[in-house]
Amino acid sequence: MRIHHLNCISSCPLGGRLMDGVTGCIACRARLACHCLLVETGEGLVLVDTGFGLHDVRNPRSRLSAFFLALLSPDFREDMTAVRQVEALGFRAQDVRHIVLTHLDFDHAGGLDDFPWATVHMMRDERDYAALQKTWLDRQRFRPQQWHTQARWRVHEVRDGEPWFGFQCVRDLRGLPPEILLVPLRGHTFGHAGVAVRGRERWTLLAGDAYFDHRELDEHHPRCTPGLRAYQWMMDKDRTARHLNQARLRALRRAQAGHLDIFCSHEMSEFVDAAPVDAHAPPRLATQAR
Ligand SMILES: [Zn+2]
Repeated sequence: MRIHHLNCISSCPLGGRLMDGVTGCIACRARLACHCLLVETGEGLVLVDTGFGLHDVRNPRSRLSAFFLALLSPDFREDMTAVRQVEALGFRAQDVRHIVLTHLDFDHAGGLDDFPWATVHMMRDERDYAALQKTWLDRQRFRPQQWHTQARWRVHEVRDGEPWFGFQCVRDLRGLPPEILLVPLRGHTFGHAGVAVRGRERWTLLAGDAYFDHRELDEHHPRCTPGLRAYQWMMDKDRTARHLNQARLRALRRAQAGHLDIFCSHEMSEFVDAAPVDAHAPPRLATQAR
């Protein structure tokens, strides 16, 4: 299967290099990717996470919370939405038959409404908890305004899992080939999951928001920028599980380095490694298959 890496609208949080580790000053805005995958299968396209969508670009205040708009200041460009990048690659939007979500945060689920015919897969805990709208922060991050596709959501249970490199995975995603798996990685949210795709030669694991800074997977000295550490503390739902899963991802990368690439959603340097031309370029150039 062919895998394309798409950055579906960068976020530009306050804090400069305190957030992304590279932006020159701390009064500047940093740049974080929104790393999604587009997978070509024998039965159509599968999109893994959706970033921000057309409706977010055109009318952000009706869809997103004022809190996160101010904090992240997304770089709303229509040509960077998943649907426009799919078209720029020469496909029709209707070719996207399935979407697999790592979780339901606004910056991962915003493009769902651009593919209303697609079946949407996620963990049951993710849907159930997000729908509760329990706390103030939950209501800022989980946005029912982005969920017009709910009738086509299909949820999956951890207890249906089977082993995958020492993790539990859900392989039986009806309608999808067995080379696309959900890998539960609880922590950032209760139903958070990575999505693993077996490419031509290697596995690719999009680990979502299980970590934010590539150095968190450093075997000898795991670390993170202070800004991203604070952001993860603010957002996580199960801190113990998040740290445990980071340790497991670290061990996985060490053990399977020859067979597996791991990416998180927001680390720009990881995205540039995967799609090395230009993460901010027109979409046809910003994608690469491996
Ligand atoms: Zn995120």
